[in-house]
Amino acid sequence: MLHLPVKDSAKIRLLKGYPWVYTRDLLLKTPMDVPPGTLVYLVSQDNEPFAIGYYNPLTQLACRVLTVDPTQEITVSYFQQQLLKALAYRQQNFTRPFYRLVHAEGDQLPGLIIDRFDKTLVCQTNTAGMELLKPLWLSALESVVPATRIILRDNTPSRQKEGLALSITAHKGALEGEIPIEENEITFYADPSQGQKTGWFFDQRTNRHWIASRAVKKTVLDLYSYSGGFGILAAARGAKQVTLVDSSENALSLAKLAAQTNNILSQCDFVKSNVFDFLEQLISNNQLFEIVLADPPAFVKLQRLKGPGLKGYEKLAKQASLVVAPKGMLMIASCSHHASTNEFRQAVEAGIAKAGRMGTLMRKAGADRDHPIHRLLPENHYLKSLAYRLD
Ligand code: SAH
Repeated sequence: MLHLPVKDSAKIRLLKGYPWVYTRDLLLKTPMDVPPGTLVYLVSQDNEPFAIGYYNPLTQLACRVLTVDPTQEITVSYFQQQLLKALAYRQQNFTRPFYRLVHAEGDQLPGLIIDRFDKTLVCQTNTAGMELLKPLWLSALESVVPATRIILRDNTPSRQKEGLALSITAHKGALEGEIPIEENEITFYADPSQGQKTGWFFDQRTNRHWIASRAVKKTVLDLYSYSGGFGILAAARGAKQVTLVDSSENALSLAKLAAQTNNILSQCDFVKSNVFDFLEQLISNNQLFEIVLADPPAFVKLQRLKGPGLKGYEKLAKQASLVVAPKGMLMIASCSHHASTNEFRQAVEAGIAKAGRMGTLMRKAGADRDHPIHRLLPENHYLKSLAYRLD
């Protein structure tokens, strides 16, 4: 295996568990001429291997570490061990087989995401290294989880930076067709061949439960509802009326299907609209809701666009606050890893103030336990959810 020489300062960080090596950490004058994702031994000045990772000469994040045991062989059985560890952790935390099974660096499998919907697995390979290792981890995955359907959602923007093609294919079973999901003790639906990300956002599971348990006999506005993770659960828990708003027809039709299955169709209204347009309409009609929640797509997609992204959250918080009934509740979430909790909070609170409302922060939360955060990667803490009680 090739040797990738790194500076002593990087070696110290890596041996403490930091999983990334940047181009500036390398002792190379020019990038090595090897295929993106090539497995390498990381070595320091003495040329002694101290870790194994994969190297991409095309990206600033040059190498991701798999293990700091240089004697480890990267084989099917290595991936079996990693996957069994990830599976055992989920099985300790969840009674039903619906969860994120692999959360990339958080599960020591950098560049790999796997969501489990019982016997359907949806995988996202985000790096060239994991792409080259795909035959090994896929074979390990099939031996560890009894799957009848494995979908490869290889269409993430990060693949382009890595020099990889985009595609959505079935490795096993059918590509098309929705699947039922059990979450918070009710049934939802996802379509892994079409939806956003892997088809479902497991990260909001506990936040959905928290909101729904406060929604009994209340009116609820679920902005950016997707397939109903928040809104359908709130209705099933006894909300008086729930309005779900999303721009995607597909997402709303899966939410409707879930409403039918859970016998709560009469409590739900489905609105296909741009959220800001719909909010304008509600504001001009003086329509209020006791609980308003907004879980939008990432507004800060790039570090250099943080300012405008935070302004977007401020505007959303302002408009949403204007339709919260007196003593009602506003929950707003950000999945922008470039914006910290404090930056997001400041933007939201500025928006609430601009709406002329006073608010008390009731709850600050993140992603659920199946999204373990790597202790040295703040970027991993991408989901922030804030809930306020407004006067
Ligand atoms: N709250 C959801 C996840 C939301 S994902 C859950 O709990 O699962 C973001 C959603 O926002 C997607 O469904 C997307 O279709 C929708 N969306 C993106 N931009 C939008 C806009 N401007 N107006 C309405 N919906 C939008």
